[in-house]
Amino acid sequence: MATIAETIHKPQTLRPSNLEDHGAACAAFNWGQARRALDASLEAKTGFNMATLAVDRHARSPNAAKLALRWLGKSGARRDLSYAELSHLSSRFAHVLQNLHVNSGEHVFLLCGRLPELFVALLGALKQQCVVTPLFSAFGPEPIATRLTLGHGRVLVTTTTLYRRKVQALREHLPELQHVLLITDDDGPLPPDTQDLRVLLDAASPTYQTRPTDAQTPALLHFTSGTTGKPKGAVHVHEAIVAHIATARMALDLQDDDVYWCTADPGWVTGTSYGVLAPLALGVTMIVDEADFDAERWYTILEQQRVSVWYTAPTAVRMMMRSGSAAPRLHDFPCLRFIASVGEPLNPKAVRWGLEAFGLPIHDNWWQTETGGIMIANYRSMDIKPGSMGKPLPGITAAIVERREDGSARVITEPDTEGELALLRGWPSMFRAYLGEDERYRKCFAGPWYLTGDRARRDADGYYWFVGRNDDMIKSSGHLIGPFEVESALMEHPAVLEAGVIGKPDPLLGELVKAFVVLRPGAKASEDVQRDLLGFARLRLGAAVAPKELELVDTLPKTRSGKIVRRLLRARELGLPEGDTSTLEAA
Ligand code: AMP
Repeated sequence: MATIAETIHKPQTLRPSNLEDHGAACAAFNWGQARRALDASLEAKTGFNMATLAVDRHARSPNAAKLALRWLGKSGARRDLSYAELSHLSSRFAHVLQNLHVNSGEHVFLLCGRLPELFVALLGALKQQCVVTPLFSAFGPEPIATRLTLGHGRVLVTTTTLYRRKVQALREHLPELQHVLLITDDDGPLPPDTQDLRVLLDAASPTYQTRPTDAQTPALLHFTSGTTGKPKGAVHVHEAIVAHIATARMALDLQDDDVYWCTADPGWVTGTSYGVLAPLALGVTMIVDEADFDAERWYTILEQQRVSVWYTAPTAVRMMMRSGSAAPRLHDFPCLRFIASVGEPLNPKAVRWGLEAFGLPIHDNWWQTETGGIMIANYRSMDIKPGSMGKPLPGITAAIVERREDGSARVITEPDTEGELALLRGWPSMFRAYLGEDERYRKCFAGPWYLTGDRARRDADGYYWFVGRNDDMIKSSGHLIGPFEVESALMEHPAVLEAGVIGKPDPLLGELVKAFVVLRPGAKASEDVQRDLLGFARLRLGAAVAPKELELVDTLPKTRSGKIVRRLLRARELGLPEGDTSTLEAA
């Protein structure tokens, strides 16, 4: 498979990056040191508690009055919280749990959108050593109930509106759920069997002595986004914060004076690791926007809030591209200095669009719920090869492997050879279990390797290239085809906004490549466009890889974290059962 030869050279700027020389950093880095670098005296008193490291540490330092979080409400409200305020509020929440006799190891669920209380409850529950699961507030009743049941939810923090709409009717089927704490957002009386969170917080003490927390204590339970099969609950421990901090420093280049905006919802692992824990632990100021995506609103936030580091997702980038090239020109982004993206392959066209719109390329990085933190990245100090995920983080050993029949993994050393992406186990944010599914967890490993389920290749310069999920690969006339390559080629066509590619059983070819394409606004769907796109792809990819069928569609099915669900495109095409659709974005 050909490597896209284009390179975007690293910018020449005065501000040094946190990782100036990737090779030297890889040689020097070790996790033990990264762990010890965190405040050792604090560790002695509180053990390795994530929340202490994220907020309390700053609250007792000259950073106490620094703005930790600026919350922008949907309808124009704004709330600023300093590190000290966030520390006190989360301590109050820890007391609330303690007063309710909710103890270490018990599970607390958060279903409340991006509200300040989400941060307060998440950090407070960690102080009380509970295991926290933030859920997407847009989930319907079924996925909420499934996760509460699978995760043995004992406490739920939600809003009155969400509770009435999504949980109340199912409450009798949730016997383990004992405490529902409501962020009241209407004037009606509290629903039965619930409590008013604000009243409880006001009555609680703002100082809390976190008990010593062993680094291996479970802290977070994240359900994966379910691009394939049923959701799985990945368990992470307090020590994961060592990786959050190190990776945010190196891959996102977060520095003291940054105003940082992570657009991910904490219902997705990105929104917790890099939307709550890492930025707070690094003592930066973060922006939290309650509203859903709106291109104009986002440009305005980037400009008016003087965002300097922005972490977003390819789906958002594509939506901003859809709003046209004039939109960013109406704004000025003098503070913006670094943009990164995660969640899906970032098509080369999107990397380049960053240059056009902001004067900065978009730095793709790769990780997954199970890895808990960024594993492969394009760094500020490194040339970008658009379409590549970059190179492994210092402290992370990645390899391309082939699974053997006996369950072991053979490392493929030849460059540019496709195989499964594997990581040498043992980094701090590696998941420690799939809740209640030991066998499934065990199967993710082959000897020292964690097998990611993604196919990729490494080029001779050490850059990794995403090929596809194991389950999304297409076998056509003996060729193994990754959907991303075909989708990226289609996206190079000026009329194309996004594309999803699947394999469809074919008596002759085994599978034939079929593409579903969403056109840019203004481009008219017609048979001519369809033919033109097929010809365009054939020219770029060759007949063996190019789609044989192409359908123009209005939208592609996506998860709430914005990933195209190829499994579903395929099921719909073939009239097969759709399987678990609980994490799908509303149509
Ligand atoms: P999740 O656990 O929901 O975050 O999904 C993780 C999966 O998303 C990975 O295993 C990849 O298949 C995909 N993914 C995440 N980031 C990237 C990226 N930068 N390039 C390609 N695929 C990605």
